[in-house]
Amino acid sequence: MFSYRHAFHAGNHADVLKHTVLIATLRHMLEKDTGLMVIDTHAGAGVYQLDDRYAKTSGEASEGYHKLKNAPKGELSKPVLDYVQTIESFAVDGNHEAYPGSPFILAKLLREHDKLKLFELHPTDSELLTKNVAQLRMGRKVVSFKEDGFAGVKRFFPPPTRRGLVLCDPSYELRDDYNFVVDMLSDSLRRFATGTYVIWMPILARRESQYLPRKLQKVCESAKREFLYSSLQIKDFPKSGQPSALGASAVFIVNPPHTLKASLQIALPQIAEILAIDSAASWALS
Ligand code: SAM
Repeated sequence: MFSYRHAFHAGNHADVLKHTVLIATLRHMLEKDTGLMVIDTHAGAGVYQLDDRYAKTSGEASEGYHKLKNAPKGELSKPVLDYVQTIESFAVDGNHEAYPGSPFILAKLLREHDKLKLFELHPTDSELLTKNVAQLRMGRKVVSFKEDGFAGVKRFFPPPTRRGLVLCDPSYELRDDYNFVVDMLSDSLRRFATGTYVIWMPILARRESQYLPRKLQKVCESAKREFLYSSLQIKDFPKSGQPSALGASAVFIVNPPHTLKASLQIALPQIAEILAIDSAASWALS
């Protein structure tokens, strides 16, 4: 446990998909005045440097965010441009390689009367998260906890305003994480059926990964909740003996805003085209 550090992966294709979906979802939810409770169950360190030794070791942003950043802005669709410009807005004081994690993206988009609860268990990253969040000077609006995020949701749902969003973005280092995600959704829907849940997952050959979307779908069907499944693949799956770098991932959204499907319908093909590494590059939305 705890060998995963998001600093090695910041700005990769999985972040592009997840953060594009997150921003498009939140934009719509913020159109209503009532305050939002947002919970990031697996927050990471909050913000990263794409030119530090971690990010440079893997160079994953060069297959993700950097490709979109270097694309002509005039050709980007609205949701993709919104993603790129949101990330670019963190490049202040000549620091062009800052990449915000989900906590910083959320903190930037939320309003004065919204609340953000962040969970991170990794000893180093939770300390970094606390320091990074303190620099935002947002007081009690943004609070971080060195606790298990799957359990943490229970403390805050249902929110007093009955409006809320959960981002659930585990590293799936533990096989149990696949079950924990299903249990978290099923328990949360019992507590707060109308909340919006954004769940990221890797697409891998292993059984747990293949079955996860179907299990989440079953939870939604038995709770009579709408959902969307969006996926992005940028390269073929590794052949045996090749290094196993992640080439595909998906985001499962429960109770999606009614505008989200149309936004992703234009965003996903464009992202897949710009990030494509080989002919296996593809996207899906259902
Ligand atoms: N959501 C972040 C973003 O988009 O910038 C990235 C999060 S990263 C994929 C997953 C994080 O979850 C890691 O930093 C890991 O240490 C943390 N983690 C693992 N198990 C956890 C748990 N049970 N509760 C909270 N955090 C956990």
